[in-house]
Amino acid sequence: KKRDGKNGAQVYHPSFEDGTRERAAIEHDIELGLSNDWFDAYFQPIIQMKTGRIVGYEALLRLLHPERGVIPPGRLISIAEETGAIDRVGTRMLEKALENFVRLSEASGNSDTYLAINLSPLQFEPALPMKLTAMTNRYGIAPGRIVIEITEATLLHDNPQIRTILDSFNRHGYRIALDDFGTGYSSLSYLNRFPVDIVKIDQSFVRAMCDDETELNEKSRMLVEGITAISHKMACTVVAEGIETEEQWALLKSFGVDNGQGYLFARPQSVATLIAEQRAKPEP
Ligand code: C2E
Ligand code: CA
Ligand code: CA
Ligand code: CA
Repeated sequence: KKRDGKNGAQVYHPSFEDGTRERAAIEHDIELGLSNDWFDAYFQPIIQMKTGRIVGYEALLRLLHPERGVIPPGRLISIAEETGAIDRVGTRMLEKALENFVRLSEASGNSDTYLAINLSPLQFEPALPMKLTAMTNRYGIAPGRIVIEITEATLLHDNPQIRTILDSFNRHGYRIALDDFGTGYSSLSYLNRFPVDIVKIDQSFVRAMCDDETELNEKSRMLVEGITAISHKMACTVVAEGIETEEQWALLKSFGVDNGQGYLFARPQSVATLIAEQRAKPEP
């Protein structure tokens, strides 16, 4: 809402002001989060579609605010990217994710699961592969257990520096997942131009597939089935995200999707909670 003063003086835009205030509050929380150690890596299990068994976990950033509780990334990441805080947030997040992954693996006695980590395009600097390798060595985690999730934004300009970094990850034995697949401009073309191992079908397709409100559900099903077939031909594993219903699970399974994640199986949760749950119902 805007109010025009009689002589054109008092024009203000509360929504804009709220926006800048919210932004300043988030910037403040990021700095507080870094200095008070409020950032944590929550884990969402990734399951094998055929069996429902856990094959890995995606690490998702959370800010544990003492007054406001658990804050999901939302605008936090984009603001950190704009202010340049993403380097420090990203490094802190990597430490938390690796530390939690070791704790969880030790508690469950399972060393076959993998850990998927989201990286912002702005974290892609030449030193990144060495930095990650130093960290995984320190935590005693084999690179083969780490998946690096990138989005089309990272590949967009076909930057030779990005290509060098991805090739280096590939040589070290890390796997690369292309996140939010199908939402960009030329998703398919990235599959043969970059060393991609895993395709993550965006949750918007999974939702549209079984949504009776949209005419697109038939087409979404064909798209998901087609993306899965092409990805397999390109020797990629397919992961579907945002699975919330049994119907979606059954359909995706019938299309040959390998792995999936979503609220149907588990929400992202703290590693302490995951460990407590495993203790409560041990797997056979
Ligand atoms: P994303 O990488 O696509 O992650 C999946 C998002 O979908 C997560 O939101 C997850 O909580 C949510 N999700 C999982 N299953 C379901 C479901 O069944 N239904 C619905 N509606 N949502 C589901 P979250 O944790 O809020 O993260 C949002 C985004 O923030 C992520 O999207 C990712 O782009 C970014 N992000 C999260 N952690 C990091 C990080 O450590 N670094 C960077 N650079 N980005 C991150
Ligand atoms: Ca992701
Ligand atoms: Ca995604
Ligand atoms: Ca997404």
